[in-house]
Amino acid sequence: MTFEAGPSHLTQITSGGSVDELAEDKFFDECGVFGICPASDAAALTALGLHALQHRGQEGAGIVAYDGENFNAEKRIGLVGDHFTKQSVIDRLPGDRAIGHVRYSTAGGANIRNVQPMFADLSTGGLAVAHNGNLTNAESLRAELVANGAIFQSTSDTEVILHLVSQSEPGPFKDRFAAALRRVEGAYSLVALTNKKMIGVRDPLGVRPLVLGRYEGAWVLASESCAFDIIGATYERDIEPGEMVIISEDRIESIRPFVDMASRFCIFEYVYFARPDSVIEGRSVYESRKQIGRELAMECPVDADLVVPVPDSGVPAAIGFAEASGIPFELGIIRNHYVGRTFIEPEDRIRHLGVKLKHNAARAQLAGKKVVLVDDSIVRGTTSLKIVKLVREAGAKEVHMRIAAPPTMHPCYYGVDTPESEELMAFKHSVEEIAKIIQVDSLGYISMDGLYRAVGETARNNGAPQFCDACFTGEYPTQLTDRSQNKKSPQLSLLVERAAE
Ligand code: AMP
Repeated sequence: MTFEAGPSHLTQITSGGSVDELAEDKFFDECGVFGICPASDAAALTALGLHALQHRGQEGAGIVAYDGENFNAEKRIGLVGDHFTKQSVIDRLPGDRAIGHVRYSTAGGANIRNVQPMFADLSTGGLAVAHNGNLTNAESLRAELVANGAIFQSTSDTEVILHLVSQSEPGPFKDRFAAALRRVEGAYSLVALTNKKMIGVRDPLGVRPLVLGRYEGAWVLASESCAFDIIGATYERDIEPGEMVIISEDRIESIRPFVDMASRFCIFEYVYFARPDSVIEGRSVYESRKQIGRELAMECPVDADLVVPVPDSGVPAAIGFAEASGIPFELGIIRNHYVGRTFIEPEDRIRHLGVKLKHNAARAQLAGKKVVLVDDSIVRGTTSLKIVKLVREAGAKEVHMRIAAPPTMHPCYYGVDTPESEELMAFKHSVEEIAKIIQVDSLGYISMDGLYRAVGETARNNGAPQFCDACFTGEYPTQLTDRSQNKKSPQLSLLVERAAE
């Protein structure tokens, strides 16, 4: 589809979404964002940055570039490397500034309408927005906007922001953008592009990450610092919670347009979501995970012959566990990296094969051994059940499970895909019951204070916790307006597929 519209001339070339898919009506989350300004090859550099952020979302990717006259957009269902490595695609994204987005898939299938960046022609000119996070009052705001005549092009919560900007009081763009954001609640780390500026902004709690870097003479914004490493950009600093940076060719302006709040960064980014080679808020994700493993070994010691990680996410914690316990580390489970999600059939009967397709036991290492398995988290329990069975079938004498997070008991409404409580193993069962269900000789989770210690706090401050840990505690740091009005944005059920990979 190609169209040109309004004063900013967006040329948008999209592909991959079927008509059926357009019927799907869900909000989406789990994303990565990137932006660069000004740089020759801005789109190619954005594609590389998005490739480094691919772990944050694998369903779709998009780039919007501005060439001084036109906004050009390319959006695709699929992986960055499958589409944005083609010179023909990059050639359609001329300009010295670009922003991009990767997003995660859903149970209902891919939907090109929701692939970001979202773009709108406003009276002020074009505006493209890439969003990581999830708004908890988007449904309510959308209903209000629609009642007032707004026509939505997608089901994404991000589009609500575009409408709010368009309806804001006339004034300087940064004020209109801030006024729009003061109306939303929830989590947002945004990178936006207008015909004059690139803007980066983090919600007042700073739930999702956003970092600022330099690449030659350009400014770079990204969800994680690993996106700087891939292009050789240098990390400058994190965008602070509640901060908006407005970047033009020669200068960067920082404003704080929101009410000041104590930050509540997502602790699960350290446990699982971020890439281990990233540094977030001054903490190395890899080091944090190793430290979680050390704490776990001290809190839940076990007499065993081997520490074996559930690859890949359990690896750094298992290294820390082995180091602190003195038990040898072995790669007793090998992961096949070529199992794509599309390879997994959706029927239960076939899905059951998932973990065997993805993981295999290294028998020679495991036979006759007392094994400690280390994984980052148990969500539904599907992975643990299958991995434990695999390890037992390989001849392990004892299987102990250690989990580098407290029990996951509550859904995330801020941009991490989790099922509703009823589907979470730890919501329904005690630790003892879970041990029986997944058939381990012992099961231990890190404590909340242990996790806080591992990421650099002495303990969880119960009166005013330093992180968002709502998935473990149920203490949500914002209002959940949509939920309280029964307008809940459905939690995505992809996790079933992802765990079964
Ligand atoms: P489950 O099999 O449902 O218990 O899922 C647990 C596994 O899924 C863990 O080994 C994690 O590595 C992974 N995981 C944890 N949280 C998420 C998430 N939000 N999305 C996808 N995978 C996850």
